[in-house]
Amino acid sequence: MSNRSKLVVANRKMHGSVPDNHQFMQSLLQQTQHHHARYAVCPPHPYLYQAQHILQNSHIAWGGQNMSRFEKGAYTGSVSPVMLKEFGCTYVIIGHSERRQRGHDSDESCGERFEAAIKAGLTPILCIGETLEEYEQGETDLVVVRQLNPVIAHVGIEALSQGVIAYEPVWAIGSGKAATPQHVQAILSFIRGHIGLLDEQVAEKIDLLYGGSVNPGNAAQLLSMPDVDGGLIGGASLIAEDFIRICQIA
Ligand code: PGA
Repeated sequence: MSNRSKLVVANRKMHGSVPDNHQFMQSLLQQTQHHHARYAVCPPHPYLYQAQHILQNSHIAWGGQNMSRFEKGAYTGSVSPVMLKEFGCTYVIIGHSERRQRGHDSDESCGERFEAAIKAGLTPILCIGETLEEYEQGETDLVVVRQLNPVIAHVGIEALSQGVIAYEPVWAIGSGKAATPQHVQAILSFIRGHIGLLDEQVAEKIDLLYGGSVNPGNAAQLLSMPDVDGGLIGGASLIAEDFIRICQIA
């Protein structure tokens, strides 16, 4: 947790265009080459080919924002793990709250897709986190365990370490109100402890990210917390300068 390099992932959501991505990724390549964190960009799926073209053989990885658990079939509008792999993806985001809220992703389906991602050689980034109401009720611990346990039950504790967990409180996403570094530390430490009950080595090894209104102004404090292994960055990844600044801070 403490002495490995941080992982900073851009979740570009449904934003970008060919020229904008080009400018973003080229600047990122140039301005992070002397920094030692790990970086990844997750653009919308149609731009993965472009990401592959620009970022291949560089220090920056790329990934998808979602995927099906199936390799192929009659699933209109879906993208398979094998396809993501074919376009050189290292990562895939699973269970983002923007998908969970719209009823697309259940806890069980996250487990199935986490497993499918690992089988395909991808590193799943599993997003978990509570709503504002749950936060106000003091239920954060309960919620993250409720979201994590089905995945652990499905893949087993060993396989969990092949993925990444991103704690993203729903109320902090896109709201401009990041969780406090103390809250983030408390929850990530709780998550690590929960995993440690099953396997201490996995708990120590697994990357735990924070996501939710991370920006160049609050990144240093958030990323310096001992259990924070990196960040999943939404809004601030839309402006190259901001994202690069966060990458440099990490
Ligand atoms: P945000 O999004 O940085 O805009 O809050 C984070 C995310 O949704 O992954």
